[in-house]
Amino acid sequence: MRQPLKNPRSVLHALLPFGAGTPEVESLQSYFCRLAVSHSVSISALSREIAEMFGWEFRQRREWYSGNLNGLGEVARNWSSAISALTGVAQLNRHTLLPWHTVIAQTGLSRHRSHWCPQCFQEDIESGNTPYFRLAWDINAVNACAKHKSGFEHVCPGCGQSNARHSSAYVTPGWCAHCGTFLGKSKETIPATPADIWKSIQVGHMLAHQGNNQSDADLDKVIEALAAIIERMDSGIYAHFAARIGLSKSTVHNWLKGGGAPTLAAYLRIAAVAGISLPKLLMGDLTGWEPPAKTEIHQLSLSFPKQPKNRHNHNRDWDAIRAELVSMSKLPAPISLLEAARRLDLDVRLLYLNANKEARILSSRWKEYIQRRGNQTRENAKEAIKAACQDVLAEGKAINLREIEAKVPREILNSVDGVIDLLQQIKAEILEE
Ligand SMILES: [Zn+2]
Ligand SMILES: [Zn+2]
Repeated sequence: MRQPLKNPRSVLHALLPFGAGTPEVESLQSYFCRLAVSHSVSISALSREIAEMFGWEFRQRREWYSGNLNGLGEVARNWSSAISALTGVAQLNRHTLLPWHTVIAQTGLSRHRSHWCPQCFQEDIESGNTPYFRLAWDINAVNACAKHKSGFEHVCPGCGQSNARHSSAYVTPGWCAHCGTFLGKSKETIPATPADIWKSIQVGHMLAHQGNNQSDADLDKVIEALAAIIERMDSGIYAHFAARIGLSKSTVHNWLKGGGAPTLAAYLRIAAVAGISLPKLLMGDLTGWEPPAKTEIHQLSLSFPKQPKNRHNHNRDWDAIRAELVSMSKLPAPISLLEAARRLDLDVRLLYLNANKEARILSSRWKEYIQRRGNQTRENAKEAIKAACQDVLAEGKAINLREIEAKVPREILNSVDGVIDLLQQIKAEILEE
């Protein structure tokens, strides 16, 4: 791996990045994982090597495992340009949010927990493609898959651990970083709200736009467009417009006076209320835009909370929250307590403190469900391995892992813990039959 930088273009494999110019664009982090796999080195070895070549101080925890690699700050800029230089693959910045760095505030943009859409992984496999992480998954404002209209998964169906996507030295996108279970295919779709689906579709348009357009977004143009929107919808009165989008008057005033760029969450509120698409708003492009009639003001604006909530507010209606938790624990598709807390916009610790019994019921239902799913996966794998064992015997050969590996697809073998033990068990069963 260590080579002089005389010909940087030959240092790393020029893998083709996936999905540029589509809502399903691959994230830089995913590309980096695949690059490490392709060179058979660990992620930390590869990142240390690159950091050394470019003379950076390297903080793996902070840079690599956080969502910052895919964001719009220095970390994303350094890594996308370095990897572009070393692979010879141009414009890897389009696999981060850098194309929007002038118009979107960095605050709260990246998600620091790893989520994924199981159905996207499943489709990758079924269509014979390499599974990869979508950039959209690491954007905080996105809570659902735009393509599959369902929520994200954050727990491995095999071992029940979170952080299953990429917290490991070697990561093959699509397989659990702890136990190797394939992260695609969960039988139950995870429900998503219409507001989450709408936001996700808008962000998808934004991601598609950034891959197809060279022109840089310009904050002055955006602010000019915003002023025009406020003029047309609310006769230029900031307070009225602020009330519509559920933010404070001073926040709107601050944008208009050049005090900083809006957050992505704020842009989504504006887009919903003004009935304009997110990329057009981010480009400050009002061609063809007409203010919506009073009755048409986007239905979804109702789904956005009116004011940012104080997460430690003690004046909550706990009776209502407990009732809500009870009904959540009866949903056809079980949800985790963390997901329930997210939907209620509450800290999970507060749920344990004030709705302990309801929280524990919901949580144990989720654990049982995860367990069940794990068992199901094991049963399916067992069946496939048993069939392969019988084939091996029919061919007059001895059963061993190598023979089985040649007959059973890798994602099935990877989906179970302790394949060797399972194989022994199957052998014993076959001998008894
Ligand atoms: Zn999906
Ligand atoms: Zn796992």
